[in-house]
Amino acid sequence: MKANIKHRGKTRIVVIGGGLGGLRLMKALKGCGMQVVLVDRNNYHQFPPLIYQVASAGLEPSSISFPFRKMLQGREEVFFRMGEVKSIDANEKVLQTSFGKLYYDYLVIAAGATTNFFGNERMARNVLPMKTVLDGMNLRNTILSNLERAEVETDEETLRALLTVAVVGGGPSGVEIAGALAEMKRTIVPRDYPDMDTAKMRIVLVNSDARLLKSMDEASSRRAERDLTEMGVEVMPGARVADCRDGVLYMEDGSTLATRTVIWVAGIRANRFMSTPEMTLGAGGRIVTDTCLRVKGLNDVFAIGDVSIVDGDKDYPHGHPQLAQVAMQQADCVAKTIKRRKSSEQRGGNVSDQVFRYRDLGTMATIGRKKAVAEIARLKFGGITAWLLWLVVHLRSLLGVRNKIVVLINWMWNYFNYRSSLRLIFRNEDKTV
Ligand SMILES: Cc1cc2nc3c(=O)[nH]c(=O)nc-3n(C[C@H](O)[C@H](O)[C@H](O)COP(=O)(O)OP(=O)(O)OC[C@H]3O[C@@H](n4cnc5c(N)ncnc54)[C@H](O)[C@@H]3O)c2cc1C
Repeated sequence: MKANIKHRGKTRIVVIGGGLGGLRLMKALKGCGMQVVLVDRNNYHQFPPLIYQVASAGLEPSSISFPFRKMLQGREEVFFRMGEVKSIDANEKVLQTSFGKLYYDYLVIAAGATTNFFGNERMARNVLPMKTVLDGMNLRNTILSNLERAEVETDEETLRALLTVAVVGGGPSGVEIAGALAEMKRTIVPRDYPDMDTAKMRIVLVNSDARLLKSMDEASSRRAERDLTEMGVEVMPGARVADCRDGVLYMEDGSTLATRTVIWVAGIRANRFMSTPEMTLGAGGRIVTDTCLRVKGLNDVFAIGDVSIVDGDKDYPHGHPQLAQVAMQQADCVAKTIKRRKSSEQRGGNVSDQVFRYRDLGTMATIGRKKAVAEIARLKFGGITAWLLWLVVHLRSLLGVRNKIVVLINWMWNYFNYRSSLRLIFRNEDKTV
């Protein structure tokens, strides 16, 4: 079966994945005179930096998701197809997808990454990832359901397990969700569950490294640990998780933690595809590209963002960080190359592809109300300034005026009266609490 898209004699660029990289590429290719086909397994774009707020009932999923078809309206040269790309035949220049074959002239892989359970199947079954909006909704349901269960639980041991949330992974996502849950414990839980002894609720942040936020400066790590501890989070540095089964988290040192909610933000791995010829994969299963973001060994195929790793950049010998800015800047770079190739084809000249140079705009992590850490060039700061900056940057990055307004109102509402009102448990009829 062939995907039902008319070719119209134009050069066709297929983009796999409409995440932060893929979507930026769609924008950068506007007016390029070529046909652009976006394929994504979802019909919406999602904004990962705010998924933890969906998980902690601070934002609605629809505030950080945006339908592709709405975004691409009015662009005649652009087509969207919802589906899963399964394999790439670079010799025939064709993709095998869940909706049939799709031919391309240029291919850009921007399929991102998924949660890494490091091959531990049982762990994957028993813990909760926080990688997609759907994961965020699932987490919100679990956390709220466990609070409801705790309200009627008479066995003390089970009650404590229901009220213990373990966050595994001390990177920005782990810090952010632990901080948000500590705020929930302090402000929302006592009001919603006046009968509950909230002192029994524990948020434990388990981190295999000696310090949190290890990609940031040591001062930022110390500040994050201090702030979280003050907020009531129990930080466990240097603790490696060995297993999770029957409501117990087992550490490598033999200690255990009884908990019904384990949030797993301990690592990611690139999304995988079969390909002919085979692609070279680097650390974390990332597709290896050269410095022009061309997939090694494949013609006219590029890879950007979390799914790939650049080989040969002296400044980043171990690859670039898997961050939004990298994916977006790489999208701009590939768009330049494809446009250049097209115009040189028309003029009949030779052209060199654009080399990718990453411009580091800084890193940030929010910890809680008026608490964050930021590192911009040589500046390293925290507290309310970093927190306000974090709010502005994330609000600006959100797609759609409606989403910006809804999120801003939500944040202001929560800031002034600590009353987020999104604590609804939506689940399938057949699932019992
Ligand atoms: C919880 C969380 C918080 C984060 N916070 C920050 C932050 O504060 N700052 C920051 O800079 N970065 C942050 N990141 C990282 C940032 O989101 C990523 O670096 C960025 O999204 C990478 O963009 P991408 O385009 O490579 O992939 P993604 O944005 O992940 O997009 C990949 C897309 O590909 C689609 N896809 C995947 N496989 C297939 C397939 N087989 N077929 C079809 N479609 C497919 C997916 O549906 C998705 O739409 C965070 C990530 C997470 C998970």
